[in-house]
Amino acid sequence: MSKIFNRVCPFCGLAVDAGISGCLLPWALRCPCGAVAFGSPDPAKAVDAMIAHYGVCASAGHGDVHASTGWMKDFHIRTEDGGRSVEMPGSVIVAWRWFLRELPWEKPAGPMSDRDRLEWLTKQAEKFYELMYDSTRPGFEFRESKEAFEDAITLAWKLGLGDEAERLTKRLAHVKAVYAKQFEGF
Ligand SMILES: [Zn+2]
Repeated sequence: MSKIFNRVCPFCGLAVDAGISGCLLPWALRCPCGAVAFGSPDPAKAVDAMIAHYGVCASAGHGDVHASTGWMKDFHIRTEDGGRSVEMPGSVIVAWRWFLRELPWEKPAGPMSDRDRLEWLTKQAEKFYELMYDSTRPGFEFRESKEAFEDAITLAWKLGLGDEAERLTKRLAHVKAVYAKQFEGF
């Protein structure tokens, strides 16, 4: 027996009531923490709704996206079975699944010196640049990458690291050019 869907977000513990409009499915909830729950009589459709919602683009290397959930890790998506509910009209049995796409800005481990922060910002900038290629809405990843580069450049100048600031400036120009050429319009 599958458990009963109780609307409690498995990631933060809140009871969730807010729906999401414009989804592929009528059974869709959103938690303030960013998690979403999709339900459908056909579990594969909940996965399809999540793919559309987050705009992720699984590649051939990910295999059958309905067969397993392991591929979601590549997109920083956590998932939990939500159980089942009985929905009217018609007493339809709906299978629910929770998803949470975590903001991929890595949390710093603790207080950082300016040098640590520069390194951290550079790492975030490069990571978002890479994620741009996996996204069907790369505008998000592009903006985050650009922001991290800009902060890193400002900080590098402040630290008197002119060479590093110039390297980062060139790198940002490259990222902007790639985005303009390959992705703009998404
Ligand atoms: Zn939550």
